[in-house]
Order: sequence, then structure tokens, then C-alpha cells
Amino acid sequence: MEGNNFNNHFRDLFENSHDLIYFLKIDGEIELVNPAWLNTLDYKFEDVVGKSIYKFIHPDYLDKYRKNREDTVEKNKIKEIEFAFISSRNEPVIGLGQAWCGYLNGVPKYTRGVFKNMTLNQIAEKKVRESERRLQAFLNRGPDAIIIINENQEILEWNSKAEEIFGFSFEDIQGKTLAESIIPPQYREAHLNGMHHFLRSSEGPILNKTVEITALHKNGKEFYINLSISNVRMDDGWLFIAFLSDISKRKETEEMLIKKEVELIQSKLLQEKKDHFISIASHELKTPITTIKAYTQLTLELCNDEQKVVKNNLTKIDQFTNKLTFLLNELLDVSKISLGILNLSKTNIDFHKFLHDTLHVLQQITTHEIVIEQNDEVFLNADIIRLEQVIANLVSNSAKYSPGKNHVIVRSEKRENQVICSFTDFGIGINPLNIEKVFDRFYRVDESSIKFSGFGIGLFVSRQIINQHGGKIWAESEEDKGSTFYFSLPL
Ligand code: ADP
Repeated sequence: MEGNNFNNHFRDLFENSHDLIYFLKIDGEIELVNPAWLNTLDYKFEDVVGKSIYKFIHPDYLDKYRKNREDTVEKNKIKEIEFAFISSRNEPVIGLGQAWCGYLNGVPKYTRGVFKNMTLNQIAEKKVRESERRLQAFLNRGPDAIIIINENQEILEWNSKAEEIFGFSFEDIQGKTLAESIIPPQYREAHLNGMHHFLRSSEGPILNKTVEITALHKNGKEFYINLSISNVRMDDGWLFIAFLSDISKRKETEEMLIKKEVELIQSKLLQEKKDHFISIASHELKTPITTIKAYTQLTLELCNDEQKVVKNNLTKIDQFTNKLTFLLNELLDVSKISLGILNLSKTNIDFHKFLHDTLHVLQQITTHEIVIEQNDEVFLNADIIRLEQVIANLVSNSAKYSPGKNHVIVRSEKRENQVICSFTDFGIGINPLNIEKVFDRFYRVDESSIKFSGFGIGLFVSRQIINQHGGKIWAESEEDKGSTFYFSLPL
């Protein structure tokens, strides 16, 4: 080819072109390639000249290339083609361009190809595609709804989570603004003002912070979301990226908890008020009752032996005032327990003697016979007034809830470092479902509350007293057979 008559300018163009240029004989033998061709495919001139061009075409593109060349030579068709050369390193090099056929007297003599190296473009395109794919994965696989808007507030991105949370598909929302879709009417003005303020001053108080706010669902319902917005400056203006999550469930739970808390506080306040009222009322009632009792006893002393009926009646009045005093004291104890001021005054006692004496006194006012089956010798530290109260309550319950029976059994047994006292009756018994409830304040088993008088506080107070002694109180019972109430005290 040295002898070819190239004009110097054309030679310059040929040698310095970035495009890959070659001249081939009609059968495909390489006559001439330019330096860009050699450099790009990493061959030496002597390696390629005289060889068939088809050796330098990637096998995947061979058919396509051959067909294009035939069309060029036989039909003089010039058509852009993309195919791959194969470099000396066996790497594909994408070429995009055209081939022409040169004729002499109407006979095809040679072909000429000029191709751009598209490999770098393809790599760049691939990178863009990959980063696009990564962006899509980021947008669609995360837990948050992601919305991207431009500074005209038009929605550019709306991921699948956003579709799920708001019910709008991307097609529904594309090109719309937030203000006309998911921002509730009451926030629209503030949102628009905020946007304008930011574009004027670059100041956005809610940018890069997380706020809890409500948003509109496609169905028109408002619900709570967690929202944080970031901004990024692009060549053609600002982009705003909003990350949102639906927190309506959490909010509902929170609101429910707050409601419950308020209810609890209200009922506690109400309870405290009641306790306070009970405390004041029982105090106020105690004074006139004490006076009635004093006058009754005074009058009794003034009666002579002939005034039997008067004496009898006065004794009844005295007994009922005692009962009233007992009930008032119980009520007072309940309010003391609630206010945490039921204090014990403990001394060392001979429990065996104490139990015996207490039961003896109780026998005077009890219809049933109190049978002491066991009373072990034990000494312990206790508040005798309060223990008397517990025993009196258990004995009187045993008698009260076993009408028609004639005795109750008491046992006191020393076991290791405690004493266990039991009070057994053969009365109506308690359904196992209610057995724990009987120790609750003001609880009374339905049936017994109709037939028997009471407040439902004796066992509640007793449990408190025993617990404050470090002991336990419990019951075993069978309906229609009877009950046994136990308490234990540490020695
Ligand atoms: P009250 O006897 O004044 O109702 P208590 O607190 O002493 O209050 O008892 C609570 C409830 O437990 C009673 O209303 C009754 O239903 C049940 N109860 C208590 N002792 C017995 C018992 N020995 N046998 C059957 N039921 C009992």
C-alpha cells in the first residue's frame, strides 16, 4: 500500500483518527488498518495484514458481520452495524459504524470500514444500568416508603412501599404534587410555604429530622407516618427525598395505652376519694356511737332489778352498738390499708395461751361450738389486737356460713419454723373459681351476699394483717361440704 497515492492530509486523518479504520480486499483479506485499529485491538501491523478480517471478528457477531459485508459488496447497501472485534487479549471490542465498497469500472475492488470503539460507552452504560438497578433495589427493598420530588414538588420517584402505604400506584401519582395527593388539607399551606421559604433561603427546619405527622391515604383516611426528608442539589435544581413509614398501629397502641393509663389514674383517684370518704365517715360515725354506748351503759347501771324489760332492751342496744363499732372499725381498716397506714404493734406472745383465751371469749358470742382439736405450744412475735381480729373474723365466718351446723374445728400446729392455724366448718363451701377472690376487697360470693349480712372486707383485712406479720392466709373448700381457712405465722 506504500505506493498508494494518499494525499498527506488524508494520511494524517487516517493515522490520527480515533475511529478504527480498515481496508479489505473483496474476499476479506486485510490490506490496511490504521493505528487506532491496531492499538485498540492490540495487534502489530504484520500480525494482521494479509489475514482474513473474519479472524478478528468475535464469534458471536460473525454471521451478522458477514451478512452486512455481503450486502455492502453485492447490493452496495450501506448500513450502520454494531458488532464486536476480538482483541489479541481475546477481549471483545464493540464497534459501531459502517462499511463501504469501492468500485473500479463498476467492479467491486475493496471495502472500507470506519467504526467507533463503543466498548467504553458500553461499560459506562452498563455502570449506569447497574447503579440504576442498585437504586431500584434500594428504593424497593427497604422497609420505608421513599418519595422523591423536585423543587416544583412534582413526584419523580414513588417506590412500591409508598404504593402499599398510600394506596396510590406510581401511575396514579406521577407528575402530581404532594399537596394534591397525600398531604392532608390542614398541612398543605404550611408545606407550600415551607418549600418557598427553603428555595428562597436554603433553610428548612424539618429537613434531616424525623417528625411524626399525618398523611392521606387514597381512600381519604388520615393516618400517622414517620417522616424524614433529605435534600440534594442537582444540576437542574433541588431534589427532596422523603423516607416514610406507617406508624398508625404504634400510634393506636400508644393512644390506647394513654387512655388506659388515664382511666387507671382516674379510677385510682376515685378509689382514693372513696377511701378518704370511708375514713372520714367512719370517724364521724364512731363519735355518736361511742356516746350512745356510754349512755346505754349508764342507763343500764341506773336500772333496778324490777325493770327487767328495760334492762333487756338496753342490753340489746348495747350489743348492736358493739356490732356497729366492729363494722365501722373494719371499714376504717380498709381505708388504712389503702392509704398504707395499717401499723402493727408487736409483742412476744405465748400463742398457745393467746389462742385458747381468744377462742374462749369468742365462744361467749358464737352460736356454734368451737372445738379445739390441737393447740401446740409456740411463742411468737405478733400484734395481739390484730390477730384477735383475724381469729374472730375466721370463727364468725365459719359459723355464719354454716347455718344448721353446730360446730367449727380449730387446730394450731407447729411445723418447723412456723405455726399453722386452721378453722374448719361444714357449711355452704365456696366454688373453687371464687376461692382466691374471697380475699379481695368488697368481694362477696353472689349467693351468700343475698342470704348473709356482711361487707366483704373481713378476709381482705385479715390477709393484710397476716401478710404484715410475714405469714400467709389461704382457703380450701368444697361447695356444700364446708371450708377450711388457714393462716401461717413465722416463729
Ligand atoms: P363478709 O363475710 O362480710 O361478706 P369476708 O371478707 O369475711 O366478708 O368474706 C368474703 C366472702 O367470702 C363472703 O361474702 C363469703 O361469700 C365468702 N366466705 C368467707 N368465709 C366463708 C366460709 N367459711 N364459707 C363459705 N364462704 C365464705
